[in-house]
Amino acid sequence: MIISMRPHATREEIEQVCERIREYGYKVHSIQGEERVVIAAVGVGDVTACLESLEAMTGVENAVRISAPYKFVSKEFKKERTRVRVDGAEIGGDEFVVMAGPCSVENEKQIIETAESVAAAGAKVLRGGAFKPRTSPYDFQGLELEGLKLLAKAREATGLAIVTEVMSERDVETVAEYADIMQVGARNMQNFALLKTLGKCRRPILLKRGMSSTIKELLMSAEYITAHGNPNVILCERGIRTFETATRNTCDITAVAVLNELTHLPVILDPSHATGKRSLVPALARAAVAVGADGLLVEVHPCPEKAISDGAQSLRLERFHSMMRELEPYIQIWKESRLTAAAATV
Ligand code: PEP
Ligand code: MN
Repeated sequence: MIISMRPHATREEIEQVCERIREYGYKVHSIQGEERVVIAAVGVGDVTACLESLEAMTGVENAVRISAPYKFVSKEFKKERTRVRVDGAEIGGDEFVVMAGPCSVENEKQIIETAESVAAAGAKVLRGGAFKPRTSPYDFQGLELEGLKLLAKAREATGLAIVTEVMSERDVETVAEYADIMQVGARNMQNFALLKTLGKCRRPILLKRGMSSTIKELLMSAEYITAHGNPNVILCERGIRTFETATRNTCDITAVAVLNELTHLPVILDPSHATGKRSLVPALARAAVAVGADGLLVEVHPCPEKAISDGAQSLRLERFHSMMRELEPYIQIWKESRLTAAAATV
């Protein structure tokens, strides 16, 4: 159940509602929204009786049963789209936001050159891994703190916001000091201890879909973060494992449309990991705009042949520029349909 309090409900009224919910055997999670307090009652109990009792209480605007297992991230909970704000960009709003950069931060020259180039092409967020989840323990694991510092330099040089991966609970505080958005990689999508810790942090989170995870599992992972207090979650489809071998993963473009039906959270597409091949990235980027994604996460490298990781799927700087130009007419239509959709809900 989700209980929305009236905008001017008093502290006492809110406390009484929480108490009543507990009496019915539910656990209480309350969230202070921009206008009102919203309370989630989670657990097993007599829903009908509890709802009836709550609806009669002063300060309660409405109480609804949410059938989905995910509560805070569901459309039933919140109809308006969540807009995640960072310096210089709003994801889930009126702009299609492109995040771009190398798979790994390798050295100062590489990250600054890439940052300047992607900024000039219109990207609003710089990506780059400092902590890298690698299949082999013998592969490059990332520059770690040194990488974070280089990202901070790139932000200073370009004004771009930074998205970078956090792999472990232990690193959350450090990564939060440098990142504007903290990425949870596909391999960590169900690292529940990490998700709970990120819930206590106010930094926006970019949650990537696990390579063998269902859409419901992705949403439940997002619920971990929101239920622990952080509503700023961006979802990312990055391809899933199937029998197909022509591409590194199978891009589940449908997931974007499904997520847009089920959740108010912004959804972006990573066409680089979804395909594993740079030649396929622009086509998938167009598909992302057409299907109604809120943005892209794209790997770009000044010299992909020499990239330490994911060179085969990284766009050269020039190709990134031309892809951004090619996307312009699609993004124009995207904007128009956003405005029409917004007008239809007023
Ligand atoms: C990445 O973004 O470089 C990455 C490792 O992605 P994923 O977690 O989707 O494999
Ligand atoms: Mn990568």
